[in-house]
Amino acid sequence: MMMKLRYRLVGLCCAAGILLVGPFSFAQSQRRGAVSIEEDPLEDRLPPGIKVRAFIHRPRVVEPNHLGTCTATTDATVTDYGLAGWHLPSVGIIWKLNESSVPASVGSSAARAAVTSAFDTWSAADPQKIFVDGGSTTVKAAKFDGTNAILWKRLSPSTIGVTYVWYYTATGEVAEVDTAFNSRYPWAIFSSSGECQSTPDAYDVQDIATHEFGHWVGLDDLYSDADKDLTMYGFGAGGELKKRTLGTGDADGANAVAP
Ligand SMILES: [Zn+2]
Repeated sequence: MMMKLRYRLVGLCCAAGILLVGPFSFAQSQRRGAVSIEEDPLEDRLPPGIKVRAFIHRPRVVEPNHLGTCTATTDATVTDYGLAGWHLPSVGIIWKLNESSVPASVGSSAARAAVTSAFDTWSAADPQKIFVDGGSTTVKAAKFDGTNAILWKRLSPSTIGVTYVWYYTATGEVAEVDTAFNSRYPWAIFSSSGECQSTPDAYDVQDIATHEFGHWVGLDDLYSDADKDLTMYGFGAGGELKKRTLGTGDADGANAVAP
């Protein structure tokens, strides 16, 4: 009952974001079903024993035409982490990329490489976290359909990306995960190895993906100021690169989840 209430709250907060940020005409176009908000996976009927949770990544302050402000790392040795309550299957998880959804500014092979690097970051922290590249998919939306899909899709304006995790309530094992990045915004793969781009005109695929995949692993978002330099910090920014590298709490958290 409590969980159900939380889902409702997520939905409410999402809708509120649209009302605050989007111009009226946009809100109207959403109601006509042009965008994903109409097909909410949280509303789908699920088999007994399976629950779903959504994590929406957004800028700290949502402003129209602003991707959020990246701040340089001051302390990534914070040991905080939150456990979401599930774990990956011990045999690992097979992911697929919707190549045709990848923005042209990124390109599908570069996107696959960035996504692979993001998964590798978690496997490096804990070799028991196994991710297998299953090739491509034509899945266009987050949905409980047997495919662990990574895709771009037009999402509500306050959203950078969203991850849905379906899990078995009896065992705590992940049943499926989907991650969608918002195609409404510009995306890039920055070559700089710094923490923040000087021209933050796009979201970095690897940066945001590393955060999203922390949810696959079983980690929750962190919203305290002290956690702002950790990968699992709940807000993102344009030109941000620091989430590509795990902080102490991120690695500790990954190892705290079995397998
Ligand atoms: Zn998150």
